[in-house]
Amino acid sequence: MTARLIDGNALAASLRGALAERVNVLKAQGLTPGLAVILVGADPASAVYVRNKVSACEKAGMHSRKIEYAADVAQADVLAKIDELNRDPSIHGILVQLPLPVHFDSELVLEAISAEKDVDGFHAENVGALMQGQPRFIPCTPYGVMKMLESSGVQLRGAEAVIVGRSNIVGKPMAMLLMAAGATVTVCHSQTRDLAFHTKRADILVAAVGRPRMITGDMIKPGAVVIDVGINRTEDGKLCGDVDFDSAQAVAGAISPVPGGVGPMTITMLLANTLEAAERAAEE
Ligand code: NDP
Repeated sequence: MTARLIDGNALAASLRGALAERVNVLKAQGLTPGLAVILVGADPASAVYVRNKVSACEKAGMHSRKIEYAADVAQADVLAKIDELNRDPSIHGILVQLPLPVHFDSELVLEAISAEKDVDGFHAENVGALMQGQPRFIPCTPYGVMKMLESSGVQLRGAEAVIVGRSNIVGKPMAMLLMAAGATVTVCHSQTRDLAFHTKRADILVAAVGRPRMITGDMIKPGAVVIDVGINRTEDGKLCGDVDFDSAQAVAGAISPVPGGVGPMTITMLLANTLEAAERAAEE
């Protein structure tokens, strides 16, 4: 069996087309959706993510503001900027690129963003709303994964879903969304005793670990839908996921590649959340 490819680039392109149309509707009413992105320090991967987010905004007809600080900036300066952006009516979404330097209290910084502008969905109020099944903003990566699963046509209700990784930004919200969609969810992590036992039962397998090619074909149930969230850099500088694509695609029913899978979908859902925030502002 060779798995069907779940093409994140193609899905992202079609969703972004629909988003751009909604942006035009708002613009005709005199409102341009605006996203502010705060980058602290010079981490090269973070710089690339921020550049991609800003450029995607512009391509979708939204405006974006990139605010950069040196790694040794005082936390108080960043908090003051967030306060200013919270009150700026031309900004509908605010995100702080993670990770922050060690002298920052990341939780405090994320909590400083107005919950109405928290397009990453990391504010405790928005995390709580998601958990209660009434999300205001769905965190972009798991939101993108849900769209990919939808596009794959897989039946979520009653399916066995296994997530590898339990981070606040991917694994945990992913579990909430799959549970809400009717899947039976298992969350694995670094203390899981027999990882393959769990992954082999999965109709839907989501890998979000950060370990190159750790999920191999022999850990996958034949016909499963496999979504690879991982972004890792190999020794030769190439990107690869947490799933060993070659052995996995011989077993899975459908699989997302890296690059060209979850990455472009994450940015697309950031645009969707920013647009939604702007639409809510327009209604008010
Ligand atoms: P974290 O490092 O925050 O979390 C990794 C998770 O993997 C943890 O829960 C950890 O367990 C678990 N883990 C580590 N080792 C093992 C193991 N041997 N077996 C099972 N579980 C293990 O990472 P993130 O969730 O932030 O990101 C995960 C990956 O996804 C990374 O490669 C990241 O770059 C990528 N990513 C991609 C995005 C995209 O847009 N495509 C967006 C966000 C992330 P424990 O909790 O016990 O430590």
